[in-house]
Amino acid sequence: MRKTLIALSVALAAAHGVAAQSYTLVSPDGSTSATIAVTADGGLAYSVHRDGRTMLAPSPLGLRTSIGDFGPGLRIVAADTATIRRSYDQTRIKRSHVDYAARSLRLTAVNAAADTLGVEFRVADGGDVAFRYLMPRQRGGELGAVTVLGEHSGFALPEGSTAFATPQSPPMEGWKRTKPSYEEVYAVDVPVGTPSQYGLGFTFPALFRTASGGWVLLGETGVDSRYVGSRLADADSAGVYRIAFPMDGENNGNGDTTAAMGLPAATPWRTITTGSTLAPIVETTVAWDLVEPLYEATEAPRAAKGTWSWILWQDESINLADQKAYVDLAAAMGYDHVLVDNWWDTRIGREGIEELVGYARDKGVGVMLWYSSSGWWNDIVQGPTGVMCSSIERKKAMRWMQGIGVRGIKVDFFGGDKQETMRLYEDILADANEYGIAVIFHGCTMPRGWERMYPNYVGSEAVLASENMVFSQWFADTVEAPAATLHPFIRNSLGSMEYGGTILNRHLSRDNRSGVRRRTSDAFQLATAVLYQNPVQNFALAPNNLTDAPAEAIGFMRRVPTEWDETLYIDGYPGRYAVIARRSGPDWYIAGASALAEPIELRLRLPMLAKGDSVRVLADADADGTLVQRTERVGSPDAFEITLRPGGGFVIEKNEKL
Ligand code: CA
Repeated sequence: MRKTLIALSVALAAAHGVAAQSYTLVSPDGSTSATIAVTADGGLAYSVHRDGRTMLAPSPLGLRTSIGDFGPGLRIVAADTATIRRSYDQTRIKRSHVDYAARSLRLTAVNAAADTLGVEFRVADGGDVAFRYLMPRQRGGELGAVTVLGEHSGFALPEGSTAFATPQSPPMEGWKRTKPSYEEVYAVDVPVGTPSQYGLGFTFPALFRTASGGWVLLGETGVDSRYVGSRLADADSAGVYRIAFPMDGENNGNGDTTAAMGLPAATPWRTITTGSTLAPIVETTVAWDLVEPLYEATEAPRAAKGTWSWILWQDESINLADQKAYVDLAAAMGYDHVLVDNWWDTRIGREGIEELVGYARDKGVGVMLWYSSSGWWNDIVQGPTGVMCSSIERKKAMRWMQGIGVRGIKVDFFGGDKQETMRLYEDILADANEYGIAVIFHGCTMPRGWERMYPNYVGSEAVLASENMVFSQWFADTVEAPAATLHPFIRNSLGSMEYGGTILNRHLSRDNRSGVRRRTSDAFQLATAVLYQNPVQNFALAPNNLTDAPAEAIGFMRRVPTEWDETLYIDGYPGRYAVIARRSGPDWYIAGASALAEPIELRLRLPMLAKGDSVRVLADADADGTLVQRTERVGSPDAFEITLRPGGGFVIEKNEKL
């Protein structure tokens, strides 16, 4: 009834040629709503509700542009609503088929100078709200270009909410001055308004828990060469997190911090996923619902598993003999490829790589090659440099790679989120597609709908990833386990995450006796192969694991898929423990990991199981946490009992072949 009335009020306003100054848009399933209203000062504000709870209090909208300010002093002159229903198939994300149903509202507003700004809202079934700005040509069509100087857009979390987010880092710091690169430690469950670690705000995505127990995941999608990547500034005194643009120092100070668009234009979408539980947060497809493919793939994009010598054997392994050992490992595991990391240009050379590709091909294994993105934005000396930053050089390199059959590239160390860098991401992807090459980004920004926009895109790091296990015992002691309980709800919910994990060595070194000691269990490691989603998984396995790791672990790593048809939230709380289920064809993988200091007994509701089903369980032995594999008959699928040990994990497999 409420929906009908709202639709009617909008229709009446339009019929009389008078635009209302407040609109409420309700999702087709009735669960979620957004209200957009003109405020006392003539600005636009929106609020979001879900299941009777306030998810966002009135939050500001608007742009500051070279044409004029679209903040206060706006008047709504038109409103158009529509219902959108569509279905699409998508590879390389958390599910393969999406049915999307939403209501849309397009408001047209004018400022005092009679210039026009559009705002489009979507409220979708499942709990996703999104908005973007639309700008037509202005001044009777004379003005065809605009620079967006900044935004008024913000997010007002209800009082008493807490935040789960990673801070933005200062530019030009860290390893070879490569920051920012979305590789920071989460602030977990901190009160809204808590200052960020560096005073520079937070990167997307950011998760919030409201005082009434609701969940809000903020993100951004549809960013391409036509905008900047944005972030959240620290909350202002009213508790509002405003959109912030890149910092001047990013990209070593080269390039503007503003966004330049040709008119007519649409900005990227800002997304607000809401839930009364964490299920909508884990299961959302909002990052892909709102974007379209920008070109067709020349090669069918493939999900794949790979081996990667660098993670445990480091730079010293970038030689032909060690790479052949990792090809052999890939062949033994039934994996798609080997990833050859930095320095191959000087330590192996092109002729050596050609030999390696041939050696690998004979074993049914492909090759991926690492490149630096730089460039003039950091101090990286690891080669190859000076290739991906140049249209001429990268096309030459890609032609060579296509000629010898290299399957993909991993491009590392980008310069931040300025529009200039967004253009570089897009140019690398578009060029690589011409040569049938898949692309992973590292040392990079968060992907923003890129799995759908760029069909040869196969993942981004943008996370404090497995390499930190090699660099620091502190990371192994304090960060690794909590991270597995955060990423499924935050970073990895809105985009692929190339973590480079599943470590079966006890020590993070070639001899497996020295270096950082792993604190988490083998079952935890196996669980991360499911908890962490990326279409291409370069796992941190080593050749010795074929003989020194539990045979059940190796068997699992041979079976585990990297492409999923469905993803479901089962249980958990970010920072404490996480249980996620993913389906591949008829097979389900239900994975859990814990960061709690004490064991926890879970009683899981597993709707994909039936009483009497046979499942394979890989878990921690109660006595000492070593890996145990057992086959269980399901008693009650509504109360499947399993224990999570500190730093432990499990995988429950329902496999057709069992
Ligand atoms: Ca990195």
